[in-house]
Amino acid sequence: QPVAIVCVGMAGSGKTTFMQRINAHLHAKKEPPYVINLDPAVLNVPFESNIDIRDSVNYKEVMKQYNLGPNGGILTSLNLFATKVDQILGLLEKRAAPDPEQPGKKLIKNILVDTPGQIEVFVWSASGQILLESLASSFPTVIAYVIDTPRTASTSTFMSNMLYACSILYKTKLPMILVFNKTDVKDASFAKEWMTDYDAFQEALQRDDEGNAFGGVEGEGAGSGYMGSLLNSMSSMLEEFYAHLSVVGVSSMTGQGVDEFFDAVREKAEEFKQDYLPELERKR
Ligand code: GDP
Ligand code: MG
Repeated sequence: QPVAIVCVGMAGSGKTTFMQRINAHLHAKKEPPYVINLDPAVLNVPFESNIDIRDSVNYKEVMKQYNLGPNGGILTSLNLFATKVDQILGLLEKRAAPDPEQPGKKLIKNILVDTPGQIEVFVWSASGQILLESLASSFPTVIAYVIDTPRTASTSTFMSNMLYACSILYKTKLPMILVFNKTDVKDASFAKEWMTDYDAFQEALQRDDEGNAFGGVEGEGAGSGYMGSLLNSMSSMLEEFYAHLSVVGVSSMTGQGVDEFFDAVREKAEEFKQDYLPELERKR
């Protein structure tokens, strides 16, 4: 049974470039994936996709016809596309099932899904939810949350990014891999350290706090003031969150870390079958 990998992340974090990289990786291994582009607004898709939302909805036309701005245009395009979800699942299932009449048929092992740059449009819309739930009801599905590592190097952006990831985990209820991308620009070891060593993060907080307007009394560090105590409570909440995640550093530019990513995918797909699937079935 193939694993569906859904790439989400802030605009510019590198989802599309990451998709291109893991797609090339699978092609090189002679395991071509099934590729779906759900970003209606993207101009160039640097990989060949089997299903492209742009083939069935014209984002520019949708904006014009319904008198919408960019976000509304993406959302409406996604809504229109979500009405075809049964057809999509039909296509996927056909590619994933053995056919007695085609004994040599190559079954797909991975389904890759790229999502719109505006992360909230996908994660918080009814159609995004429908698409995700339909995928997850047919295949083990994991979320790859792509992070722009160089741009998340301060404790406050790091914390915001982790809280966002946490909210997505909570919303989708699917296993998640944190993909620290662009490691060719900045190594992800700082992030891994912050996620595993509570004291290291506290120290970084205090360092970043110097010169921070929210920090309370100067010189007292992150332990002081409203922001300081909020950050402290959030970091203990996040400790629990981190315990459920896989974390990998990758460079979509150089390909570094892609093998580790696929190790994490295998692990999370197992987890999906053991922990998430029973829960999904119980609710149905
Ligand atoms: P998306 O909006 O999340 O789909 O992001 P894109 O894939 O379009 O990438 C945004 C920008 O980041 C582009 O200029 C990419 O070339 C760049 N980028 C993506 N991945 C990497 C990477 O691993 N290393 C570096 N240096 N740049 C990257
Ligand atoms: Mg993109």
